[in-house]
Amino acid sequence: MSSSDFDLYRLSEEHDLLRESVRSLAETKIAPHAAEVDEESRFPQEARDALTANDLHAVHVPEAYGGAGADAISTVIVIEEIARVCASSSLIPAVNKLGSLPVELSGSEELKRKYLGPLAKGDAMFSYCLSEPDAGSDAAGMKTRAVRDGDSWVLNGVKRWITNAGISEFYTVMAVTDPEKRSKGISAFVVEKDDPGLSFGAPEKKLGIKGSPTREVYFDNVRIPADRMIGEEGTGFATAMRTLDHTRVTIAAQALGIAQGALDYARGYVQERKQFGKPIGDFQGVQFMLADMAMKLEAARQLTYAAAARSERVSGGATKEDLTFFGAAAKCYASDVAMEITTDAVQLLGGYGYTRDYPVERMMRDAKITQIYEGTNQVQRIVMARNLP
Ligand SMILES: Cc1cc2nc3c(=O)[nH]c(=O)nc-3n(C[C@H](O)[C@H](O)[C@H](O)COP(=O)(O)OP(=O)(O)OC[C@H]3O[C@@H](n4cnc5c(N)ncnc54)[C@H](O)[C@@H]3O)c2cc1C
Repeated sequence: MSSSDFDLYRLSEEHDLLRESVRSLAETKIAPHAAEVDEESRFPQEARDALTANDLHAVHVPEAYGGAGADAISTVIVIEEIARVCASSSLIPAVNKLGSLPVELSGSEELKRKYLGPLAKGDAMFSYCLSEPDAGSDAAGMKTRAVRDGDSWVLNGVKRWITNAGISEFYTVMAVTDPEKRSKGISAFVVEKDDPGLSFGAPEKKLGIKGSPTREVYFDNVRIPADRMIGEEGTGFATAMRTLDHTRVTIAAQALGIAQGALDYARGYVQERKQFGKPIGDFQGVQFMLADMAMKLEAARQLTYAAAARSERVSGGATKEDLTFFGAAAKCYASDVAMEITTDAVQLLGGYGYTRDYPVERMMRDAKITQIYEGTNQVQRIVMARNLP
């Protein structure tokens, strides 16, 4: 065994330094607004500004298109550290990756230049439009139609639950181009916010990630040039699924960050809070809870980094490997663990944990979404079962 074999299971010094700098930025510029963003259900503009100023809003964009060209593990670290203080804000880099990855994976050189450049600069955000009111877990059952008309495609339909809709300039939209072929009759397109016929619903009133706007997107005879199709006709669903293989790793990262934030808070609290004449952290019953929380979090983190390493290798042109399994496993496990850890953090704060005066109830509400989006955890188990390593 060479010494580099042992390095496999620890991050590089560069990754550690990146974590340190993102943590410091998150604590100074994002954390102070997190409670208010949640309370007022408002977009975390301060976070967007701070992330853009520090080139952290879409770190995955390759250098060739003006981006930071961060590897998949670096992208995970950025999302993790932002989510540790504000889950809503972590959806800025996460959904910028989700929305633009179809272009990066399958788009023409022309599309990449046109859309990834403004994203990298921070002039535009990107959303991902797959789900519909009647097509969630069964995404291939979508109804939104794209019909060819000369040199254009004309889109009609409704997308639902679209993160950052109304704020993003660019939308990757999956639509049916051949209804006979089900998933093989779905194509992907880039739609711009200003395209005539595009409009947005009111923000959903949600349990958590309240600072992240979620809206319906309406397509009423939206006419776009034919060269806005991403990849070949009929490949849109495959592109959408390949995208999720990579971005489920970023949802795992979000879950890790939320859980770490809750664990860190609870750990500090039990040293301060006294009952029976001593800090509650002196009781073994409390210590065992913290030990279990830290153990599960570290196991989830290792699985997430293992998945990120596969995501990186696949992006680098390697074959698909077992990314589909690892992406689903990391998302499913990390989100289940985040739900447990945040719930236990509320428990460790007792009655105080149940109030909005402390951040752990927000973290518990925010953790819940990670078990639902980018495919529910039941769907992840279906994906894993079909792709056992
Ligand atoms: C806040 C938020 C943000 C989102 N952002 C986006 C976005 O940006 N873009 C986007 O395209 N979508 C987005 N989504 C949609 C999200 O991915 C879907 O909500 C999710 O995939 C589940 O679909 P559904 O809500 O229709 O639930 P359903 O599919 O109706 O599922 C309901 C329940 O049935 C279970 N179930 C369904 N089928 C099976 C099965 N075969 N076996 C076992 N159990 C099953 C599910 O696990 C779930 O528990 C977002 C959702 C939310 C809430």
